[in-house]
Formats: sequence, C-alpha cells, structure tokens
Amino acid sequence: MSFSSLGLSGPLLRALEEKGYSEPTAIQCKAIPAVLSGRDLLAAAQTGTGKTAGFCLPLLQRLDAGAGVKSNLVRALVLVPTRELAEQVGQSLAAYGRYLPLKSTVVYGGVKINPQMMKLRGGADVLVATPGRLLDLCERNAVKLSQVETLVLDEADRMLDLGFIGDIRKILAMLPRSRQNLLFSATFSGDITAFTGDLLRNPVRIEMNPGNAAARSVRQWVCEVDKAKKAALLSHLVCNRGLEQVLVFVRTKNGADALTRRLAQDGVCAASIHGDKSQPERARALSAFKSKEVRVLVATDVAARGIDIRELPVVINFDLPKVPEDYVHRIGRTGRAGSEGEAISLVSADEVRLLGAIETLIRQPLMRDQLAGFVPTQQVPLTRFRDRPAKPKKPKKPKQGAGDAPKSSADQKPGGGKGQGVGCGDAVPSKKGAAPKPKRGAARQEDRGRRP
Ligand code: AMP
Repeated sequence: MSFSSLGLSGPLLRALEEKGYSEPTAIQCKAIPAVLSGRDLLAAAQTGTGKTAGFCLPLLQRLDAGAGVKSNLVRALVLVPTRELAEQVGQSLAAYGRYLPLKSTVVYGGVKINPQMMKLRGGADVLVATPGRLLDLCERNAVKLSQVETLVLDEADRMLDLGFIGDIRKILAMLPRSRQNLLFSATFSGDITAFTGDLLRNPVRIEMNPGNAAARSVRQWVCEVDKAKKAALLSHLVCNRGLEQVLVFVRTKNGADALTRRLAQDGVCAASIHGDKSQPERARALSAFKSKEVRVLVATDVAARGIDIRELPVVINFDLPKVPEDYVHRIGRTGRAGSEGEAISLVSADEVRLLGAIETLIRQPLMRDQLAGFVPTQQVPLTRFRDRPAKPKKPKKPKQGAGDAPKSSADQKPGGGKGQGVGCGDAVPSKKGAAPKPKRGAARQEDRGRRP
C-alpha cells in the first residue's frame, strides 16, 4: 500500500517523502480514507502506531479543500491531554502541511497566555490545545469555536484519567452540532465507551490492538529485585548493557528527582521531567535526551505523554504504575512505528498486585528474570493471571549464562502453572501459588563480556 493510493494530495505526498515515510502504517491505511470521506472515527490505537499522521494528513487535506480561516475562528480543533503531546502534534502538522497554505497554532497552560492570544487573532485552520488553556482563551474571547468543522480528541482515555471530562464537556457545548469527530484512545474503559456513545455518529471503528494488547514489537520482561536495590540495578543495567538512550518511568515527582541524583552519583548522566518542572526546563531535558547528551530521562507518567523519540530502544519501569493502562502507554514509547523495542520492569515483592493487574489487562503473563548480584531476598510472589496461557511447555534444563535479555514470550510459559511467569534462567516447573525459587547459580550472568 502506498500513501498515494490512499488518496492523499501532491503537497502532502511531497512532505511525506521528505519525512522519509515510504509506506503507511496499518492505522494510517484505515484512518486516512475514513477521515477523507468525512465520517466520524473511533480508533483504538496506542502511541507508536503512527496515529498522529493517521489523522493529521487527511485533516489537512480536507481543510485545504475548504474556505480559508477568519479572525479568532478555528476550523479544526485537536484536544490533547498534555503540553508535550500538543507540541508533538503541532510539529507533525507543520511537517506534513509544509506545502499547504494552512495555519496551525498550538496552545497549552504553564506559559504566558498573551502571546497565544495574539497568535489567535488571525484565526487558525487547526488549533491544537490542552482543555484548560483553551477554556481560558475562550473566556477571554481570544478564540471562537462556533465554526469548528472537525474535532479530534487525541489520547482521550488519558484526558479522562486526568480529570478533563468537565472541561471537555464545556468545550463540546461551544462547538457547532454538525461536525466531524475523530477519537483516538489507547485503551477502552467503560468511561470512554459511555463518553463516545454521546459524541460520535455512526463512526468508522478501527482497533489496532484488540483488548488493550501491548505493542507486539516490544519485548517485555520483568526483572525481580528488592526495592532498596532498584537504583543500583538501574545503574548496572544502563552501564553494563551499554544503554545509550533510556526512558525511565517513576510514579512520583520526588521519586524522579531522587533517582536522577542517584544516577548522577553513579556517573550516569540523567535528567528528569515531571509536572513541577517549568515548560522550558522540560523542553531542555527532552532536547538533551534526544541529542543523547543525557543518557537517561526519568519521567513521571503525565510528563512523558507526548514524548516522541523515534525508535527509542529501551523503556524501563523503575516502579510499576498504579493504573495498569499506564503500562501500555509507557511501553508504547519504545518499538514505535513497528521498530523493535524492549520494556524492562523492575519489580519488587510489594508490587505484585500491580503486576497482576497489568498482566490481566494485556492478557499475558510477563516473563520474569533476575540478575546476578540483584537476586531479591524478598521473593516476588506469582500473580493470578486469569487468562489461560498457551499449551504448557516442557520445562527446559536450567542453563548457566544463557545470554542476555529474555528472548521470547514463549519462554515465560511455565510448566503446568496458570500463566505465572518464571525467570527464563531458572526454567523450573513452579507449583501453583508458590513463588519461583531463584537459585544463585540460576540467576543471570548477563553481563559477562559486555561493554562497561
Ligand atoms: P505516533 O503513533 O503518531 O506517535 O507516531 C509514532 C512515530 O512513528 C513518530 O515518530 C512518527 O514520525 C513515525 N511515523 C508515523 N508514520 C510513519 C510512517 N508511515 N513511516 C515511518 N514512520 C512513521
């Protein structure tokens, strides 16, 4: 399939060629014709699938075919949960629309409102906005939403999680009744389903990852460790595996700062990005990470939304998220647009319930492993993963020094258990309900012969 066969116009094809996109991703193949036809769209697609181009390209083409914009008016509105995602979508629009005479504007909170008011004076063909700042601008009459032709809700699940539902309802009330609606969400909770029922009219449905399955191109595994040793294990992984660009997720802002300091003590150049950092600080940290001046970027879930770094090789969950859907978002940072990625979760005994919730959501037990020198003294219990695993495999004989990271999810299917993963180094049949017994000899000797 080629972009031109999807019906995209010459100026867009030229911009895509310059971006180096040779063919559309799966979601683009489905979304582009649907949006071009003017239908509403409901897309279950996580970040990394190419969904942004999936809506930006046909949106720009439709806008180009219509009448120009008038002062303070907006023709297409893209609502996003975070500033970073707003910037990211704005950059995509600018790149794809570079040969079209259309004006895109990006607005979000945490920065001065006056320059944004000035930018909106002449109106915008596309306005990308976070909900709170958009309402502020509407209250000041800097922007009018009465002529919006298309509404896009990007990462809608995240917007609901962040409590934007009230703001979104206020915004919807300002839009004309007749318009096109496009909704993208990584996960489909009951809240989203209820919300979309009111919003969308006979939408085209696209489901890229049925049942919230995490991106297939991401090799996911759990590294069992005691809580107190997590920071040391992280430094060890980064240094001994020669990881050059690692995105590390933590749950709290304080946790992010403390971990960044600790990494620096271990000689690992790191920066943090979280909600207490100003926009310029976040932008600086992100650009240093992108240019590889900073090796590790430590981020909270909210701050990490919208970070787009192509082919990010590794994501590490320093702690597991409280909300299992966040796991899917986190690992969506790697293995983007079909490239291979690795997601490692450092899991301590107290996190087993969170691990269980994640495995239930993604419908697969995560492979577990332990590293020599970091074998936990407090065992991480087995989870009660509910789906049946594939046929039980014959247990393999434990191998000493069996390579580096786990090789395939098939490794994790334990002999006869109910889907509980065991370390691939210690591939012993585990009794139902019993914790896997790590033996010192069976722990991974992963770092032998690797770069320091
Ligand atoms: P998204 O899921 O929209 O966040 O996009 C993920 C990444 O894939 C971004 O870095 C895009 O620039 C990239 N991308 C989107 N579409 C394509 C494509 N057709 N070919 C190659 N890369 C793409």
